[in-house]
Amino acid sequence: MTPLLGLSLPELTAWVQQQGQPAYRGKQLHKWIYEKTARSLGEITVFPKQWREKLAEYPLGRSTIYHKSVATDGTIKYLLKLADGQVIETVGIPTEKRLTVCVSSQVGCPMACDFCATGKGGFIRNLATHEIVDQVLTVQEDFQRRVSNIVFMGMGEPLLNTENVLSAVRSLNQDIGIGQRSITISTVGIRDRIPKLAQHHGQFTLAVSLHASNQHLREKLIPSAGGYPLPELIADCREYVKQTGRRLTFEYILLSGFNDEPEHAEQLAQLLRGFQSHVNLIPYNPIQEVDFKRPTRQRVQSFVKVLEERKIAVSVRYSRGLDADAACGQLRASKAMNSVNNGVGA
Ligand code: SAH
Repeated sequence: MTPLLGLSLPELTAWVQQQGQPAYRGKQLHKWIYEKTARSLGEITVFPKQWREKLAEYPLGRSTIYHKSVATDGTIKYLLKLADGQVIETVGIPTEKRLTVCVSSQVGCPMACDFCATGKGGFIRNLATHEIVDQVLTVQEDFQRRVSNIVFMGMGEPLLNTENVLSAVRSLNQDIGIGQRSITISTVGIRDRIPKLAQHHGQFTLAVSLHASNQHLREKLIPSAGGYPLPELIADCREYVKQTGRRLTFEYILLSGFNDEPEHAEQLAQLLRGFQSHVNLIPYNPIQEVDFKRPTRQRVQSFVKVLEERKIAVSVRYSRGLDADAACGQLRASKAMNSVNNGVGA
């Protein structure tokens, strides 16, 4: 039985008809799943009682909230338990104008980037479409507020699960009503996948985790970088912008004394010259296993200045949710589960 969450209105309509019901029940089902955030078909009181009882066990595809940590800045990290018992993390990030959800695309991650907590636990499996859509509904329900933005920056590498990620993007856009331009997919760069994504002509924003200004440094941080040399990655990104007409973001983690020297900024500016892109600097968020350090604000500002002088659009992301281990790179379900079980969770 395929869970219903993530299906479009025509697909839900076909499904109710298969069940011997009139087509208009598809519209009702759509409304109850996406607007009223029903957790089971049994709750849908506009359906005839007999049919509802028959369907009570049919999976909608909702997870359960296993644990919640609230950071002092209002960011909430959720541990969500999936139907097979796996646990993933999702983060809700509120500001006055926006509610952003940072969604996971995989349970764990196979990329094993040196500075990222998720990769330390290895890879378990891809998330299904409904498991991605559910994360957004869960945050929307819990905050009692409409979600405005989505970033695929939770656990996992989205371009290793492109099909389900793109079908979730469709559902978030058409079923929940989140503008495609308010959705960002962040990737470390998987060979051949960026050109493929370009053919999709999506209106979402692509963010590429560059993290280094040359191949040598990048290979030290990102094990997969060796198989996808920087010139090739950048060429694919340029072609992506040409084909989609969308601006692209480069993420660059700042690790003190490693890739945050003015020379690195110069090199980065050179690499991105004439490119319709934006650099998002992410000062490192500490994780236990490695002893990188976050640069001082002053060093961050010097890096910014070099880029600005070379006319590179740049912003700095001071991640939210640091004290709840909810910031970029700090997500790891298994460890969080242990601390919950030991009673030391927030
Ligand atoms: N797999 C995707 C999404 C990763 S999370 C990707 O690689 O893009 C989103 C961003 O946070 C990525 O740029 C990632 O490299 C960065 N990140 C990972 N660990 C981090 C850490 N400890 N501090 C700051 N940023 C980190």
